[in-house]
Amino acid sequence: MTRFDEIFANLADVKERIGKSAARSGRESKDITLIVVTKTFPISDVEILKQLGVNDFGENRDADGAFKAASVAAQWHFQGQIQSNKIKSLCSWSHVIHSLDEARHFEIIEKSALHPLQIFLQVSLDGAKNRGGADIEKLYHLAALVQASQKHQLKGLMAVAPLASNTSESFSQLAKIRSNFIAEFAGATSLSAGMSGDYEEAIIHGATHVRIGSSILGSR
Ligand SMILES: *Cc1c(COP(=O)(O)O)cnc(C)c1O
Repeated sequence: MTRFDEIFANLADVKERIGKSAARSGRESKDITLIVVTKTFPISDVEILKQLGVNDFGENRDADGAFKAASVAAQWHFQGQIQSNKIKSLCSWSHVIHSLDEARHFEIIEKSALHPLQIFLQVSLDGAKNRGGADIEKLYHLAALVQASQKHQLKGLMAVAPLASNTSESFSQLAKIRSNFIAEFAGATSLSAGMSGDYEEAIIHGATHVRIGSSILGSR
């Protein structure tokens, strides 16, 4: 099997599962944005995916994202941990940031971004900081800041299911957080949740954006 055939087959499988999960939550495939997380994989894989019609790619490291975005024109997403000294660069190549969880980082984005960004706020589902994310109080403060921006768009929330807990319970908790959040921030209806191991569950709980790497590209 060539790399093209392998990616083709995996992509088709993931898309079919997305369609089925969307249908289970009263939606359609087109309501779900598939972001293929290409971190650690070579640019040749990004080119294959692009040929297969993928236009949303995710990276976790600034340097890798900058390199790949310069080589393949697409919508580039960043979902890694944000470091202050990398923000300026990050804002030069990415179009969507999924992992904002600090007000001081947004202040740097406001100062350094040359083009408008779509922003998801990462919320912590276990209060612990090990997988990133703001607690509820910080989240609302941060959302008010982003919403007040003249330039950037508050898209919604992002979360990663805590490793130690039941995924379905975590995503139910996320769905509640989101419905309260939308009551206050009416335009921020997107929900970035779900990775290779749990995207079907995430879609059933309302995810609009799934970030999938290994199910399409293989193990890292
Ligand atoms: C790596 C990563 C993904 C993709 O993970 P897979 O398990 O390979 O699908 C999604 N979201 C975040 C935040 C990641 O770091």
